[in-house]
Amino acid sequence: MIPLSAYGKVSTGIQTTLIGRVTREVIPAEARADYVLIVDVVDQSDDLAGYAAVLIASRVSCDVQADLQVPCVQLVQTDHLASGDVVAINCRGHVRTLYRRSSRHNALFATDRCNSYCLMCSQPPRDGDDSERIREHLRLVSLISPETSELGITGGEPTLLKNHLLDIVRVCKERLPQTSLHILSNGRLFYYGSFARKLAEIQHPDVMIGIPLYSDLDVEHDYVVQARGAFDETLVGLQNLGKYGVPVEIRVVIHRLTFQRLPELAEFVYRNLTFAAHIALMGLELTGFTIPNLETLWIDPWDYRGSLEEAILFLAARGMPVSVYNHQLCTVRESIWPYCRQSISDWKNEFLPMCDECEMKSQCGGFFTSGVKRRYSEHIHPLRISALGDRFF
Ligand code: SF4
Repeated sequence: MIPLSAYGKVSTGIQTTLIGRVTREVIPAEARADYVLIVDVVDQSDDLAGYAAVLIASRVSCDVQADLQVPCVQLVQTDHLASGDVVAINCRGHVRTLYRRSSRHNALFATDRCNSYCLMCSQPPRDGDDSERIREHLRLVSLISPETSELGITGGEPTLLKNHLLDIVRVCKERLPQTSLHILSNGRLFYYGSFARKLAEIQHPDVMIGIPLYSDLDVEHDYVVQARGAFDETLVGLQNLGKYGVPVEIRVVIHRLTFQRLPELAEFVYRNLTFAAHIALMGLELTGFTIPNLETLWIDPWDYRGSLEEAILFLAARGMPVSVYNHQLCTVRESIWPYCRQSISDWKNEFLPMCDECEMKSQCGGFFTSGVKRRYSEHIHPLRISALGDRFF
């Protein structure tokens, strides 16, 4: 697991959260305001003026500390940081990684707030004031490398930022024109057609809204998201996005309350949401609210492999782009292996020791770290390519 935060001792006053792009090289004085310099040691002759902040691995002597003119954090672990990453540093010396340049799995956490309360929410919602956070998001977008291929926007529920979310999308279009934007939303606020229309009017060249749908039955969906009327709002939201030409992805998290009607849900999506650009059928991440609800939600993927296969092949046969996320190849039927993706973010992706014997490991998505820790299928078994014969794709 890749660490995404570290703590050090604040040496020179940090009043508000500072955000900067990491560098281990000296930057010309006029460009330093955007950079956080990482060094092992500092002495009195070092020119540190103008950096957004300096992270120092070692302890700083009192003499040097008295002369420091920039915000500094000492005794901080920085091995996990590379030039081009972006960090936020707060007044308690907490250094959070907001963006990793080498990763394909970067996301902007728009807000902690949410208007649903899903049984398996991986980021349990919290109320709060987002005004400072919006400033951070805009700063972060300005510091991300323009070569970044993908950026997620997640939460909480990003649409609760309302017009500020539109501002973020607009800035992404200007600053990161080559970056695909994937926004995870419950879709309920797109019930308001004007909001969907305003998003479409930005004309971002590569945006997709990923929206969960847990059943073809309103009561089942509403129960999973713990919000009465959510199914109707989400469906109208999806239709509004479709009407204004904003690409949508339907996301189905599979667990004990959703697996039985997967084939019916696939048919519902095909008949009512034919415009969906992608459908993702996803394994459960054992974190957040899933932990207290584990006995209600857990089902071994092996036990629903039949309905997963039926749903996937139904949609694929009708030309709908469909993927299986967060599943291990040895737990699903071979017929749907071509639809299985390595979808788990690199910083929380692991394999079991027995996977080293598996000849399909390089093509398998593996496990969430939380799954390895808490529970996984009882049917994990190393695969042999030779045993697959002509069926190997
Ligand atoms: S044994 Fe491990 S690597 Fe092989 S398919 Fe199963 S989970 Fe994937």
